[in-house]
Amino acid sequence: MTNERSAIVAGGGIAGTATAIALRHAGYAPVIYEAKERGADERGVFLTIAANGVHALRSLGMDPARVLAGGFSTPTIALRGARGQMLAEVPLGGPETTTIRRADLYTALRAEAEAHDIPIVYGARLASVTAGSGAVTAGFEDGRDATADLLVGADGLRSRTRKALDPDAPEPHYLGLLNTGGFTAGPVGPDLAPPRGTMQMSFGRRAFFGWVTAPDDSVWWFANPPRKQPARPGEFTDETWREYLLDLFAGEPAGDLIRASDEMVGPWNTRDLRRVPVWRGERVVLVGDAAHAVAPSSGQGASMALEDAVVLGHHLRRQRDVSEALAGYEAERRPRVQKVVAYGRRSSNGKVLGPVGAAIRDAMLPMVMRQLHRKGDPQAWILEHRLPALAGC
Ligand SMILES: Cc1cc2nc3c(=O)[nH]c(=O)nc-3n(C[C@H](O)[C@H](O)[C@H](O)COP(=O)(O)OP(=O)(O)OC[C@H]3O[C@@H](n4cnc5c(N)ncnc54)[C@H](O)[C@@H]3O)c2cc1C
Repeated sequence: MTNERSAIVAGGGIAGTATAIALRHAGYAPVIYEAKERGADERGVFLTIAANGVHALRSLGMDPARVLAGGFSTPTIALRGARGQMLAEVPLGGPETTTIRRADLYTALRAEAEAHDIPIVYGARLASVTAGSGAVTAGFEDGRDATADLLVGADGLRSRTRKALDPDAPEPHYLGLLNTGGFTAGPVGPDLAPPRGTMQMSFGRRAFFGWVTAPDDSVWWFANPPRKQPARPGEFTDETWREYLLDLFAGEPAGDLIRASDEMVGPWNTRDLRRVPVWRGERVVLVGDAAHAVAPSSGQGASMALEDAVVLGHHLRRQRDVSEALAGYEAERRPRVQKVVAYGRRSSNGKVLGPVGAAIRDAMLPMVMRQLHRKGDPQAWILEHRLPALAGC
């Protein structure tokens, strides 16, 4: 007879795969239920796993060199003003900080889960959660169901688990910015060929824009066009979106990048979540974006999801009573993630200034950054966060 307890993980993204691996180390037998079909396209372009997220991977027993093999080191951001002038250099916690295509990270984490003998059921969209005595049952849209000792809601920004826990849970909040990005096949020109590994971020005249040269000399870029209304599904075709961006960045180097990009993604809407009051029930708990979506500008969404997994794993391993373990997880995680959410929202605000605000920002920012850095790295509390190992690498 096995002592192993069962767990349903709803969502096979970053939080879901990492948490399933953490559960495995905590003595559970997790099954991941992912809404999309195997091989479905992952939306988005690339993301950064900051030093704290890389460390969380290691705490989960994963070798970052293997999981992040498709990425490259990006230890610094060069922040530029509306005319392209350098405003400040922002360190990102050292050479371990890695930028990787979203699709490559998802594929690598799913492979890690499978290597831990964790089944992934694709095309299974969670529809309902029912608490029973000593167990929890998940109902899926296609009519099947599953019962386990624990259900982890890793089902992202529009989490069904969150709604099941609390019908009044907040809805994601549009931050007034669209998101888009792409990849060129090769180098573009001297203005756009910064040293490899330095993420260039420019406030631009009309929209925030970032780009970085990859080791193969292709340029990876993203942009955050401000817009009062979120983009509606189907509102833009690839062609009309390219035209919109070329108009927005007319006369700026970003236009050259957009023209040179074979591969473009977007637009999608930038959203975060206001405080989610209910993170858990007796046998149900939220992790990742389902609990605390942070604005992309914090560069911490994926890293926070990885940290959640480690902390939940520790509490479940230490405490056999599931409800007590979930309470311990929330008590440890909530203060930190809420601070990071607030930080992410502040950095998004700076991207939607008018021309006067932008001029003031460009004039003040270098001085403000110097002041902030006088006492050390102001992001150290985020980037230097280290969690104890749940498993050996
Ligand atoms: C443009 C952009 C840039 C970003 N840049 C960064 C960055 O630089 N650094 C960083 O750390 N983070 C970044 N993020 C955030 C990061 O991608 C997310 O925070 C991170 O992916 C959260 O992982 P998650 O697993 O919680 O959610 P997701 O990655 O959204 O995964 C949720 C999964 O659940 C599945 N799902 C949804 N509903 C259901 C359901 N009902 N049943 C079953 N499955 C379901 C989805 O298909 C998906 O696979 C960025 C986000 C965006 C949009």
